[in-house]
Amino acid sequence: MPTLVSKEYCTGCTACYNSCARNAIQMQLDEEGFLFPIVDSSLCVECGLCESSCPEMSLTKKNDSPSEVYAFWSNKDREVSSSGGAFSAFARFVLQKGGVVFGAMLDEEFMCRHIGIREESELAKLRGSKYFQSRLDVCYQEIKTLLKNGEYVLFSGTPCQVAGLKNFLRKEYDTLLLIDIVCHGVPSSSVFSSYSQKIANRYGNFENLTFRRLNGWGYKTSITIDGVPKYLYAEDDLFMEAFMKSSLLRESCYTCKYATTTRVSDCTIADFWGIGRHGKSFSHSTLKGVSLVLVNTKKGNDVFGQLQDVFVEKRTIEEALFGNPHLFRPSVRHEKRTEIIKAFLDQRKSLHDINQEFEIVNMSFKARMKRLSDRLGLFSLFKTIYNFYKKVIKNEKTYSIHF
Ligand SMILES: Cc1cc2nc3c(=O)[nH]c(=O)nc-3n(C[C@H](O)[C@H](O)[C@H](O)COP(=O)(O)OP(=O)(O)OC[C@H]3O[C@@H](n4cnc5c(N)ncnc54)[C@H](O)[C@@H]3O)c2cc1C
Ligand code: SF4
Ligand code: SF4
Ligand code: SF4
Repeated sequence: MPTLVSKEYCTGCTACYNSCARNAIQMQLDEEGFLFPIVDSSLCVECGLCESSCPEMSLTKKNDSPSEVYAFWSNKDREVSSSGGAFSAFARFVLQKGGVVFGAMLDEEFMCRHIGIREESELAKLRGSKYFQSRLDVCYQEIKTLLKNGEYVLFSGTPCQVAGLKNFLRKEYDTLLLIDIVCHGVPSSSVFSSYSQKIANRYGNFENLTFRRLNGWGYKTSITIDGVPKYLYAEDDLFMEAFMKSSLLRESCYTCKYATTTRVSDCTIADFWGIGRHGKSFSHSTLKGVSLVLVNTKKGNDVFGQLQDVFVEKRTIEEALFGNPHLFRPSVRHEKRTEIIKAFLDQRKSLHDINQEFEIVNMSFKARMKRLSDRLGLFSLFKTIYNFYKKVIKNEKTYSIHF
């Protein structure tokens, strides 16, 4: 029987599952709703392929030279994306070459899964952050088949998913472009389902849920009921409040070895939370979002230089680090993480009960002001005033604020 990495370190990347030609590995949900590989010894022939493809056992190669750092937005995509629309600009480049783009979508049952698309009309499905772990299923196998047929492929996902794909493929392909995100960590799909059930118990069934303000810049969970968007605040937004406090994450996320400036992908994308905040001012409005792009490899650089209809400005790594701690350290485990996950999964507990028990909702002055300005529809105005205060009154060289 193979010895796979211990549960604490397994990221659920599926490289082992996709490698096993005997179908001796299944990905099964644990009691917290995370997928882990389970080996069926009656089918296993002890070939060792699963062990050698596991990125937690055989380390995935990272780029060794420092990445180039850019502030970036895509003019077409900025208002429909989480930050500056960097993902869409890369995706469009590959789709226009006739390639296939893999990314995470939310399906009708609110499951997050990776799919491959060939048409620009499908890009909207992949846009936007879904803040829980996506299912990869047999994506790695599909990608290998496409690459062997000489097709152009973009894979975008968390760094551990990119590392899993690289280890599974075992060789470089000129037609494969890898994009990873700077990653805070992932909650489980079961916790998210349980949360959405609690929201449905309160407001009735809803058609859609988004985690981000797409026509602005920031986190804002909203649901759509009968075509009308409804924003969720405080206890109603408890999933994101708990996510931000690192209390719902997979165990492996707290020791994540991808939370570094050396990356496994060709390009890394993130929110440029630190723009203008480390000695180099930024003379453009950030209200509609700015992407951070790290260009990590020569291939990444070649593609980056060909992206169309985009704003690009070279910035410093210090600025990138300033607002993005997960470029140098993993999330810190909340001391009540296990109890909070249990409470979310317990359908007898309402969001109010959970918040009463664990005091999750951020009650800082800034957070309360943000919620108030949001409810009054004055978010952009509040941001502009706050920027002015920081820039002129406090003399900070910035145009941006972040929550
Ligand atoms: C779980 C998670 C944690 C993150 N943590 C941070 C962070 O700490 N700091 C930071 O700056 N940015 C973080 N991000 C990235 C950020 O939210 C934006 O996705 C990023 O800035 C890209 O924005 P965009 O405008 O280019 O693209 P968008 O159009 O928003 O594209 C989103 C991209 O993310 C991928 N994606 C979405 N959900 C998932 C998922 N569940 N699993 C894998 N891939 C997914 C999509 O496939 C697509 O490629 C995180 C994203 C996720 C999903
Ligand atoms: S050792 Fe080989 S056959 Fe056994 S589970 Fe791993 S990949 Fe499958
Ligand atoms: S390959 Fe991925 S899913 Fe399999 S044991 Fe290793 S980390 Fe876990
Ligand atoms: S924090 Fe690390 S282990 Fe967790 S999902 Fe992100 S890349 Fe994977």
